[in-house]
Amino acid sequence: MDASAAQRGFEGPEEGSTAADGPADDATLIAAARIVQQARQDYLDALPIAAAVLQRSTGGTSHVHLANALFLALAGPRACPDVPLAAIAFLAGTGVAARAEAFLAGDERDAEFEARYGEAVAQRHFSVRLARLEILPALGRRCLATIVDRTAQVETEQSLRAEMLRDSLTGLPNRTAFNEAVEGVLADPAFQPGGHGVLVVDMRRFSRVNECVGAIAGDELLITFARRLCSVLRAGDVLARTGGDEFGILMRLEKGLDDALQAAERIRAALVAPFRLSELEIRVDCAFGCALLSGHEELADEVLRNAQFALKRAKASGEIQIYEPNQARAARRRFSIETELRHAIEGGDLQLAFQPLVDLADGTVAGFEALARWSHPRRGAISPTEFIPVAEESGLIVPLGRWALDAALAVVAGWDAAAGAPLPIPVSVNLSAIQLARDDVPSLVADALSRHGIDGARLTLELTESAIVQDPARATKVLHALQELAVRAAMDDFGTGYTSLAYLQRLPIDVLKIDRSFVSDMLADADSVAIVRAILSLARALGMETTAEGIDRPELAEALEQLGCTHGQGFYFARPLAPDAALAYWRARSA
Ligand code: C2E
Ligand code: MG
Ligand code: MG
Repeated sequence: MDASAAQRGFEGPEEGSTAADGPADDATLIAAARIVQQARQDYLDALPIAAAVLQRSTGGTSHVHLANALFLALAGPRACPDVPLAAIAFLAGTGVAARAEAFLAGDERDAEFEARYGEAVAQRHFSVRLARLEILPALGRRCLATIVDRTAQVETEQSLRAEMLRDSLTGLPNRTAFNEAVEGVLADPAFQPGGHGVLVVDMRRFSRVNECVGAIAGDELLITFARRLCSVLRAGDVLARTGGDEFGILMRLEKGLDDALQAAERIRAALVAPFRLSELEIRVDCAFGCALLSGHEELADEVLRNAQFALKRAKASGEIQIYEPNQARAARRRFSIETELRHAIEGGDLQLAFQPLVDLADGTVAGFEALARWSHPRRGAISPTEFIPVAEESGLIVPLGRWALDAALAVVAGWDAAAGAPLPIPVSVNLSAIQLARDDVPSLVADALSRHGIDGARLTLELTESAIVQDPARATKVLHALQELAVRAAMDDFGTGYTSLAYLQRLPIDVLKIDRSFVSDMLADADSVAIVRAILSLARALGMETTAEGIDRPELAEALEQLGCTHGQGFYFARPLAPDAALAYWRARSA
């Protein structure tokens, strides 16, 4: 047999087809056809997967022309040339019959698809591939079909996936599954903004409970809690464990926000009764945060994060909180301010402004308070009332406070240098309670004073009441150490905190600064006058000086002076000034 004959032999001739190459020896042809058939069968049998040659007859129906044992094991004994594909249960049920019919009728060279057979737990999964056999098209349209059983793999995938989406302790969907459910709602073409909400419920102080009763009882509580939540869900609600002691509920809302609030109330009511664990009875206090699905979310996760944002506020307020985008914007601003403030401190972009402290009796300048200023290249001036709290929250107050102390003393040293001798100008620097708690303030101060050659008596540190209330023992130690350096201490914003009088008496505090809120209300409000009077007589009794903050009108300066207040500070005298302007101000008033 020459090469082309061998090829022709492999591909045909088919049984029953007439040989078109002229008169031939019938016996030879039949023998050749048998050999070819056998060779092809051998080839199919050698394959490790179910394989068959499918053929389309001239009538248009297709059938299995040849199949290996693995194919027959799947498709059954009816998979033979006499039975149309569509009449073979397996091929019809998997959809392979229809796909193969279409494939054979069309022009595609190959096709791959997934097929399923059977129902529910008995369902089997297959990968099917059809590849056209094109040699000798005269023999009709044919293709090689191979089928790989992927059931085990798919089942493993499915159970892995189920595992990935389930919280193992409570059996509830986990955070990933919850987000998928939210995604489903957002992707629904019938989605309506405000038609769905996410409520997050957090067990407050769960970690304390866990510590007290042990992890096993803690787990039991979580399970019981989850079950209680389940019992109050409405049809269609999705409950998931979205965090350690946090549960999320995705719910349909008929009446928008009202519905969400009602649901939260209902759930809260259901959680009031104590939880009975094997040996204990525990009452659980919960916080609720809620976010509606607006459709503006870029990711499903955003909805949950919004609800958690509201939850954070709920923990502080004790009320159910609804997420509002404005608050998130403010939080984002705080966050970016934190990052930018870090750079500003490192890059030396902060300045100090100096506001005069004026002797109310004779109008002379008794010193300056150094106030931090931040002029942001893009956002403009950012008030310390905004960035100081951010600095305190983030811990940046420590480097900021160190900088302020150093920069203030550098300015004072600069004034001295310009005058050629030390000037009698004291300076006050604000010291955050957080810095007092975390930093070694006395050695910091001693170091800065000696570095700039400034006498300790020219420095006052202004602390707020919280510095003392938080850790009285530490505050006492620090204040005494500062006293050793001759540094004075002022109690800033006095009247707004909760300092006990005992501490006020015991601690070396030299000045009480009366908070601006009392001062500015004084002229109109008798209560404020009474408070100012009380603070002034307290200061007198304790031998302290007093500075009234926020004097913005001459009448206030006059009234305070008459009440016996020693010093004042405020826009009436001057706004906080740049170092040069401050020195000029002092010169003009001390002549
Ligand atoms: P504070 O220490 O009580 O400073 C007085 C604040 O009152 C300053 O606000 C000052 O500009 C403002 N003020 C003074 N007179 C008047 C007035 O007549 N009317 C009005 N409306 N306000 C007046 P500022 O500079 O915005 O600082 C706010 C707070 O930020 C300060 O309150 C202080 O607690 C904090 N702060 C500022 N700089 C620093 C700093 O370097 N370190 C620390 N830890 N805190 C600082
Ligand atoms: Mg101050
Ligand atoms: Mg103040």
